[in-house]
Amino acid sequence: MTTAAASPHVMNTYGRLPIALSHGEGCHVWDTNGKRYLDALAGIAVNTLGHAHPRLVSALQDQVSRLIHTSNYYHIPDQERLAAKLVELSGMSNVFFCNSGLEANEGALKMARKFGHSKGIAHPKVVVYERAFHGRSIATLSATGNPKIQEHFGPLVEDFIRVPINDIDAIKAATAGRTDVAAVFFEAIQGEGGVNPLDDGYMKAVRLLCDEQDWLLMIDEVQCGIGRTGKWFAHQWAGIQPDVMPLAKGLGSGVPIGAIVAGPKAADILQPGNHGSTFGGNPLAMRAGVETLAIMASEDLLANAAHVGAYFLDALKTAFKDETGVISIRGRGLMLGVELSQPCGALVGQAAEAGLLISVTADRVIRMVPPLIMTTAQAQEVVDILKPLVTDFLHPTKN
Ligand SMILES: *Cc1c(COP(=O)(O)O)cnc(C)c1O
Repeated sequence: MTTAAASPHVMNTYGRLPIALSHGEGCHVWDTNGKRYLDALAGIAVNTLGHAHPRLVSALQDQVSRLIHTSNYYHIPDQERLAAKLVELSGMSNVFFCNSGLEANEGALKMARKFGHSKGIAHPKVVVYERAFHGRSIATLSATGNPKIQEHFGPLVEDFIRVPINDIDAIKAATAGRTDVAAVFFEAIQGEGGVNPLDDGYMKAVRLLCDEQDWLLMIDEVQCGIGRTGKWFAHQWAGIQPDVMPLAKGLGSGVPIGAIVAGPKAADILQPGNHGSTFGGNPLAMRAGVETLAIMASEDLLANAAHVGAYFLDALKTAFKDETGVISIRGRGLMLGVELSQPCGALVGQAAEAGLLISVTADRVIRMVPPLIMTTAQAQEVVDILKPLVTDFLHPTKN
């Protein structure tokens, strides 16, 4: 079904379900017909605290009644509060605020360029990955490893070197003898590319390589960060620290926000006049970020993500253990993917009909990135709804 006719004035850029949501509470949302859904998508890893979290609601109501926006002509005290918290949680140095994932990544790419120029490299190269997703601006779609996203928008930004994930020999071979590399840029767990985790050992080895070669290590934590895997940032499982870390999605629990966190090696690259954003770091977004992180800590949501995520992964493996059409079940914490043997976009609508919100990414991977408040009972419910749908989808019975 197409809903284009229902919104003739909105550009037709999304494949939308014929559903309009009206309100939510916790891990549930209701549509305008009163139908209830269990939310295992969280607005694509955005609604960290679920919907209508009482403490977030009252903080945002308070903030809206004071100030929504001021511009960066003035000091915004909550920028310093949120930056200090992100520095504490990451062990890094300082933060630039923007409004979205692609903006954070675009800023990171500017940092890589300027870092390269400071070393006398005229055309600095950034190593990026097959199946990566970094956004849809011209630079970030060029860094993205998906021809469908790049098609129609050439010429692409050059100066990217693309390698496969989890292959240290491949990155060494692709950069051997080069003197023009400035940075390596990866998602600790690729999200849009199909929930593909980078091995802890691989991340460590790349960190070492970046140190040896004096390259920036830039880790896109836009989707996998902010507690989703059970640590504040997914790369922390590998015991490493990046030099540049773009954040967005879950940081404001639904309020648009982005951030670039820099470590010591990158903290001074951007100087007055180098970068800016009208909306970036505005009082509403900063309050959302400060409250989101505070509520996560007080409700111990990292432990919940780890615990419920492990239960969820296990329940999926049990449910599909004899299902030959299920190729792989993977992920960490509450970032999970079930890869099928065939494209399965149709499952998204079928799941919604059955009262479950999920997404399918990379054509064949069912992705679950629920709110971090999800319970084990709700995780089990997701599996119980999904199992017959997947089984039916893979082996349709004619009756
Ligand atoms: C979603 C996403 C982006 C882009 O974020 P937008 O806010 O949509 O611009 C970039 N990187 C990763 C890893 C993402 O998942």
